[in-house]
Amino acid sequence: MRRRVLILIVAFVASSCSGLLARESPVPITTGGPGVATSQQTTTSTIETTSSSSTTSTTTTVPEEPVAVVSPTGVVVPILDALPTGGWVVGTPCANTASLDRGMPLAGIQVLIDPGHGGDETGAVASNGLRESDLNLDVAERLQRFLEFRGVSTLLTRTSDYRMAIAARGELAQRVAPDVFISIHHNGGPTTPTDEPGTLVFHQVSSFDSRRLAGLVYEELVSTLSSLDVSFAAGSPPGAVAMLNDSGLDYYGVLRRTDGVTSVLSESFFLSNASEAAVLESGYIREQEALALGRAILRFLETDDIGSGYLEARTFEGPGSGTGGVAGCVDPELV
Ligand SMILES: [Zn+2]
Repeated sequence: MRRRVLILIVAFVASSCSGLLARESPVPITTGGPGVATSQQTTTSTIETTSSSSTTSTTTTVPEEPVAVVSPTGVVVPILDALPTGGWVVGTPCANTASLDRGMPLAGIQVLIDPGHGGDETGAVASNGLRESDLNLDVAERLQRFLEFRGVSTLLTRTSDYRMAIAARGELAQRVAPDVFISIHHNGGPTTPTDEPGTLVFHQVSSFDSRRLAGLVYEELVSTLSSLDVSFAAGSPPGAVAMLNDSGLDYYGVLRRTDGVTSVLSESFFLSNASEAAVLESGYIREQEALALGRAILRFLETDDIGSGYLEARTFEGPGSGTGGVAGCVDPELV
């Protein structure tokens, strides 16, 4: 029988200026700052079939459509359409649309990291003045560095202190379609003292993968937090849990609007508990939190581990925060 061997080498070359990025899935995109891709990516795959005695090599460049852009001012925006003149129609942080004629196009993001709140929506504010929006961004940037160092491509939804609507976060997640979307928060509101961390990790009610990721995030966070010399407090039984609205859908918009993307929302510490807010002033502690989140994500991506802390789904009761909408939202400058 004649033997035929065909070797196909496909080289994917990413260019920061051509408007095209490419990958062999998954491809790490090195970042030089929050959400900014800075390096070219080249990956190679080899496919063999039988042939007579000859070997043929073919090199093909396969560009992948960019899904998001880092604007010249560092704002990450989803691409909604391409402009015939070059550039893109993009979604803005306040869920408007805008034209953008330059920026860093991105594709192949594995983990989309969402620092909660921003701008005049600070989230919880601790008695020591620590603002949740700042804390969320700091931990998000530390998580990004951890994952990038381990070859996981990442992107932040919010890269500095500006308002960002929940709808815009969902739009970005849908366009980027990462393997993991994690929204980073720190809890507030009334608490009572507890012996264990009051950590809550919310998952999407109808996603097994989201539930598994939440259990892993909860397990890693509690393992880390339990080693700290802190007087913990909780607002409700801690664990990995789905929070529902009256319609039985996910209560939290970043979990509902990311339907189809494996998403979780982490509430690690209680900022409204003075003892927890005090330790969060330490960069070392914030680093430990980010490493716990990173280890959980790596376990989700690389193992079949199940995690722990699972609770029965709850239905949200209360007035809600009333934030995350577009009313009064002022977009940051994109260029
Ligand atoms: Zn929050």
